[in-house]
Amino acid sequence: MSALGDLGWEAYPSEGWEEISVMDERNTPMRSYQVCNVMEANQNNWLRTRHIPRDGAQRVYIEIKFTLRDCNSLPGVPGTCKETFNMYYYESNNANLWFIKESQYIKIDTIAADESFTQTDVGDRVMKLNTEVRDISNLSKKGFYLAFQDVGACIALVSLRVFYKKCPLAVLNLAQFPDTVTGGDSALVEVRGSCVNDSEEFEAPRMYCSGDGGWLVPIGRCVCKPGFEENKDYCQPCRPGTYKASSMDAYCTKCPPHSFSHQEKASECSCEKGFYRADMDPRSMACTRPPSAAENPISTLNDTSVTLEWSPPRDSGGRGDVTYNVHCRKCANDGKTCSPCSNSVHFVPRQFGLSIPKVLITDLLSNTNYTFSIEAVNGVSDLSPTPKQQVTVNITTGQTGCSQISEHRKGEGHQYARHQLLQLFFLSFTLPLSLSAVNVILKERKSKDSITLAWQGPDRPNGVIVEYEVIYYEKNQRDQNYTVLKTKAHTMTVEGLKPGTTYVFRVRARTDGGYGNYGGEIELETSHEDMLAIGDPNQSTILAVSIAGGIVLLIFLVACFVVSGRHCGYIKAKQDPDEEKMQFQNGRVKLPGSRTYVHPHTYEDPNQAVRDFAKEIDASTIRIERVIGAGEFGEVCSGRLKLPSKREIYVAIKSLKAGYSEKQRRDFLSEASIMGQFDHPNIIRLEGVVTRCKPVMIITEYMENGSLDTFLKKHDGQFTVIQLVGMMRGIASGMKYLSDMSYVHRDLAARNILVNSNLVCKVSDFGLSRVLEDDPEAAYTTRGGKIPIRWTAPEAIAYRKFTSASDVWSYGIVMWEVISYGERPYWEMSNQDVIKAIDEGYRLPAPMDCPVVLHQLMLDCWEKSRSERPKFGQIVNTLDKLIRNPNSLKELANSSVWEDPTTPEFSVSTVDEWLDAVNMGQYKDNFASAGYVSLDSILYISLCELSKMGVTLVGHQKKILSAVQSLHAQGTHVQV
Ligand code: AMP
Repeated sequence: MSALGDLGWEAYPSEGWEEISVMDERNTPMRSYQVCNVMEANQNNWLRTRHIPRDGAQRVYIEIKFTLRDCNSLPGVPGTCKETFNMYYYESNNANLWFIKESQYIKIDTIAADESFTQTDVGDRVMKLNTEVRDISNLSKKGFYLAFQDVGACIALVSLRVFYKKCPLAVLNLAQFPDTVTGGDSALVEVRGSCVNDSEEFEAPRMYCSGDGGWLVPIGRCVCKPGFEENKDYCQPCRPGTYKASSMDAYCTKCPPHSFSHQEKASECSCEKGFYRADMDPRSMACTRPPSAAENPISTLNDTSVTLEWSPPRDSGGRGDVTYNVHCRKCANDGKTCSPCSNSVHFVPRQFGLSIPKVLITDLLSNTNYTFSIEAVNGVSDLSPTPKQQVTVNITTGQTGCSQISEHRKGEGHQYARHQLLQLFFLSFTLPLSLSAVNVILKERKSKDSITLAWQGPDRPNGVIVEYEVIYYEKNQRDQNYTVLKTKAHTMTVEGLKPGTTYVFRVRARTDGGYGNYGGEIELETSHEDMLAIGDPNQSTILAVSIAGGIVLLIFLVACFVVSGRHCGYIKAKQDPDEEKMQFQNGRVKLPGSRTYVHPHTYEDPNQAVRDFAKEIDASTIRIERVIGAGEFGEVCSGRLKLPSKREIYVAIKSLKAGYSEKQRRDFLSEASIMGQFDHPNIIRLEGVVTRCKPVMIITEYMENGSLDTFLKKHDGQFTVIQLVGMMRGIASGMKYLSDMSYVHRDLAARNILVNSNLVCKVSDFGLSRVLEDDPEAAYTTRGGKIPIRWTAPEAIAYRKFTSASDVWSYGIVMWEVISYGERPYWEMSNQDVIKAIDEGYRLPAPMDCPVVLHQLMLDCWEKSRSERPKFGQIVNTLDKLIRNPNSLKELANSSVWEDPTTPEFSVSTVDEWLDAVNMGQYKDNFASAGYVSLDSILYISLCELSKMGVTLVGHQKKILSAVQSLHAQGTHVQV
């Protein structure tokens, strides 16, 4: 506040403060209040501002500039002369109070001068201005009055500035956070972000506005709506020719074939004329069209049955779901008057929706003309206004032995007919008599979805058996679903069956003369579940169902079907069975109700796992820029990836060094097949792999700040506790995701966490061999395994019981690493000593400045009994609560390494030793050149002195001062 005119402040008594104009150092006139009644005792002069509106702030700062006379410089002043004054405030909703009692004021502080000026200074017009800033918190009324009490000093109040701090408007993760006034005291203000235009919430965006006006701990994010893609802080419309169907997709992509988008913001592309998209088709699929007509129909007539076969359409319309419908019409002898066939005609396997180009039609009337139209359809046929493409076949029953073909192709104006004589055997009367029925004699219950049948040939074949036809259907479903299969062998495995379902099977033989009769029906039921070993001789049931042939049961056949020691094709993943209650489903580990991690070992062919979970990237889209680290299999580089129709992104590129063995290649790529299964903001994201050319590479998102341990060491002491808790929360959230997917990490440590430019921490390092080979911290245990001892739960060290609960133990160690800015757990203790100490109940003490609640959470993670450790979900919730209520972090554990009775005795005799012991050895020279050569000389070192000697990092200053206090506390150990 500065003014040239009357400021209108209240001063009383009248002989106290007075408002006068003075010149500042640039000779500019300014108003100031002065008082200088130093010659008289018992002064009590008050100066009160006008009402200052609070403007929504809970905490305001008051900066005052003043000059103060040094009592010694005033000749002849009595001892009552003062060099301080008091500052007060009074909160009020009333802006026009004319009187406030002294006792109503709340004292802010007694203000003293850093500089005082003497008469000579004034004569030289050198004004030494003092600047002091104080704050008042938890304001709640409309405004407040400030007051200055003089008790006998010589003061000139030159400037008063009242201000509050705001966190400035910010956009992060596509959420906008408004200008926010900071909270009272040190409380953080939780702010809900609002999604920027054309975006929507993925997870409620939140941030905290800290007391000093900075934003902390971003949580949640928004994502661009369909039709828009992210570009820095906003969502931009998809350009014409591109689309984005879901807000979960990151970028707009080119319209799929046969589709277009003429406008911006397309959430899907429209199909070109004549092309369609079925309801269930994904928006990324090309538009398709109905198929062309089926071709080359052949009818094989057998008395009152006919088999129709045809070739699939030349053009499937771009789809894989072509099926066939067969329409039947009965025609009068003139061939012109036709009517739909009656219901007594049967179609095997069915009339509509045939997936194979063949149908058997039975129960036709003899000596009757029929026209069959075969219609090829696919998933978009019903969407097209043009008539469905058909071919027709005309037959006349009763003319057995002669297969007639009559094709009449309709569609798009083409019409032609073809007659073809297929077979000229007049066997119609002899066939059924001479080729006897085939009876299924044996079945092997193989699994829940397949059955193996066996039979003998007919006892009276009328020629060479060309093939057998097996017809089967679900019991009681005959009219709806028949399947016909053919084989030249005497056995057949029918697959794709439903578990625990009874099927009816019949078999017949065919010679060049035609088909014989079907044998008797045999009912067989699939098992309810797969069994580990099938083909147990006891389970191979022999069934003799003889209706026509009376065939002798051939015991030797049984042996053919006894398959011993076969397994179901899964290898149990290396996870813990009793802990995770796994089921096995199609060879994959399944946790009920959740997506589950699939161990690459589950695959017989590890390359298939890579294909299933990792996208192949064209090496030409990658630009390698620089080496950023060394991995187990080769160097790690940073670079850029530009995928077609996607924005260029920064990536990390791990490559497999030349001369690798096949096992090394497999192990290297296993990391990609594991990582590729995860999708979580706190798990490092796999972009893809390069396997088709050398070097083989794994491409992941780029994490600008590298690994967490190095990052913390580099920024020792530079983060607020809330920022550190934010990092822990991220790691816990990633681990919750992994444990929900039944993935056990086994090597959770700060060195295996990566940090990006937004301080987001992501769990990384998923290689199969990593714990064994890669981690320099891993040491051999007595049982032969290699384990990172300091991070690993006792049960995992002792008997390799790795579970999510052992990951929780490691997580506690990571928390300790975070709070201590990358300190080595258990310092220089040997691995053996660590194992022994843990067994004896020793736990890492709280690092310096560690809130009690965090150390307690660590101790919970280090419970000996793994069932008593918290789950990752509980850890995330606890940390969320702490972030919401930062006051809970205020109470510090205050234990330091050397105060803990269980730590080795701390005994040092020189400053250098002491600095080494407190891990501040880098300042030895600074201490020496500043003259601190003995331990007793550092006992009273001040913050100011530390800064002067070059210890400027706040974290290091705190560390040293706290260690100095410990020296005081345990003077007996210090040999000074
Ligand atoms: P790794 O083989 O995964 O242990 O990686 C070796 C080193 O490369 C790590 O310690 C990091 O410093 C660096 N690194 C690995 N992946 C990334 C990444 N995605 N972004 C940045 N640096 C990485």
